[in-house]
Amino acid sequence: MNRGGGSGGFDAVVVGSGPNGLVGAVRLAEAGRRVLLVEAQDRIGGGLRTEELTLPGFRHDVCATVVPLALASPALRAIDPTRDGVEFLHPRVPAAHPLDGGRAALVLRDAAATAGGFGRDARRWRATVGATARAGFPLVDTLLAPLDLPPHAPFSLARYGVLGALPATVTGALFRDTAARAAFAGMAAHSILDLGAPVTAGYGLLIAALAHSVGWPVVRGGTQSLADGLAARLRGLGAEIVTGRRVRDLGELPPAPVTLLDLTPRQVLEIARDRLPLGYRRRLERYRYGSGVFKVDYALDGPVPWSDPAVGEAGTVHLGGTFEEVVAGELAVARGGHPDRPFVLGVQACVADPSRAPAGKHTFWAYCHVPNGSDVDMTAAIESQIERFAPGFRDRVLARHVMGPAALEAHNANEVGGDINGGAGDWRQFVSRPTLSAAPWRLPVAGLYLCSSSTPPGGGVHGMGGWQAAGLALHDTRS
Ligand SMILES: Cc1cc2nc3c(=O)[nH]c(=O)nc-3n(C[C@H](O)[C@H](O)[C@H](O)COP(=O)(O)OP(=O)(O)OC[C@H]3O[C@@H](n4cnc5c(N)ncnc54)[C@H](O)[C@@H]3O)c2cc1C
Repeated sequence: MNRGGGSGGFDAVVVGSGPNGLVGAVRLAEAGRRVLLVEAQDRIGGGLRTEELTLPGFRHDVCATVVPLALASPALRAIDPTRDGVEFLHPRVPAAHPLDGGRAALVLRDAAATAGGFGRDARRWRATVGATARAGFPLVDTLLAPLDLPPHAPFSLARYGVLGALPATVTGALFRDTAARAAFAGMAAHSILDLGAPVTAGYGLLIAALAHSVGWPVVRGGTQSLADGLAARLRGLGAEIVTGRRVRDLGELPPAPVTLLDLTPRQVLEIARDRLPLGYRRRLERYRYGSGVFKVDYALDGPVPWSDPAVGEAGTVHLGGTFEEVVAGELAVARGGHPDRPFVLGVQACVADPSRAPAGKHTFWAYCHVPNGSDVDMTAAIESQIERFAPGFRDRVLARHVMGPAALEAHNANEVGGDINGGAGDWRQFVSRPTLSAAPWRLPVAGLYLCSSSTPPGGGVHGMGGWQAAGLALHDTRS
């Protein structure tokens, strides 16, 4: 590989161009470091890529679409990608959870209006999700930078922690009626865990609260535009970006005082090999990947024909029926099964961004959770769940593109066995990610840092792993 960066090579090399790699690279470049970013695939972005997966003119986000964490993240708030032309577009309804009988629970931007739709659960929604939203950025900053000391909002954190540390099955039982209970279960299911496990309520509270505090936006033109905006910032700062170059050994990289790895433990073990101390290697080998995802992208002849028209205004749709059904579906997956009626997460980006499809047409994606590495085709089960709440859906399908765990991993090596979060996010790997440490981004090799979603705070488009790793690297190498 060529040495770049003008005279004397690079100050920092970043391997992998997901949101964490890009954010880490931007933080280093903005501090004046000469940065080289190396990406295995032909296009940058990792989980931010957008492609015409089905038909010409239909732009599908291969991975992330709905990016509240990008608006909430202290890292991306500081970088402010809107300065590079990135536009966040909001659906009128952040999330809908259809129920049998043609009605739906709606999670709106406004917490009071949302609570108003939940009848006798209104007060409880305001006191749980609403309170989390009202705690605002100080609480979000504490949760997205969990090892920062002192915590940014200790009192809000304590209040959130009382309910958030519990299983979603316990906190969700605070709600009495079907609609609020189902809505909360759908939120908590973003944890991709058995909802009877600790901290799953915390996922539900935070994700639902973000709908009220920052909204659940999509990126105009596809999430790729966010990656392209960050790359434009990098190039403007003089950084060099190399694509189509899979790093197989750290020795292939040009020497630099700092190397950031936007990789999960499996790839770190592959490319760092015996540079890592034996004890650390053993701990990385014990790192656990979580359940996988089976995803279908659709090109549609028109919008999804939801029984409840309000669902047609939602960017995200949770398809799983009642609280009990969602809990049972996620438990089956956690135990290695494939439920007939899985919890399905649907995204209709066109509701906020019609540019994703030719005039009058729509894109839609839906995924369900599956055991890690599963090769079971879940297309029929996913479509039954969609048809249940949108009869006639199949008649609108012009084309579909299916990705099980193996296809996701081929698209992005970090999605090991279809795990979209860089490792299980249960309570143990919440506090030790990838190992128990006050600075888990710093690897036990001078100048080497881990910055992916396998570090705190885990999966999602927030860039905090990159931000924290770059901050440590700048601290360690300041002259
Ligand atoms: C189907 C799906 C839907 C999702 N939906 C959402 C959503 O709506 N909202 C949300 O916030 N999050 C979502 N996510 C999760 C989100 O995409 C990830 O959590 C996020 O992208 C992780 O960022 P990262 O920078 O850690 O790694 P990644 O984005 O995974 O990037 C890692 C990069 O490293 C590269 N790489 C790997 N190995 C090498 C190597 N040896 N040499 C060079 N390069 C290498 C990969 O090609 C990749 O580009 C979704 C993920 C998937 C798969």
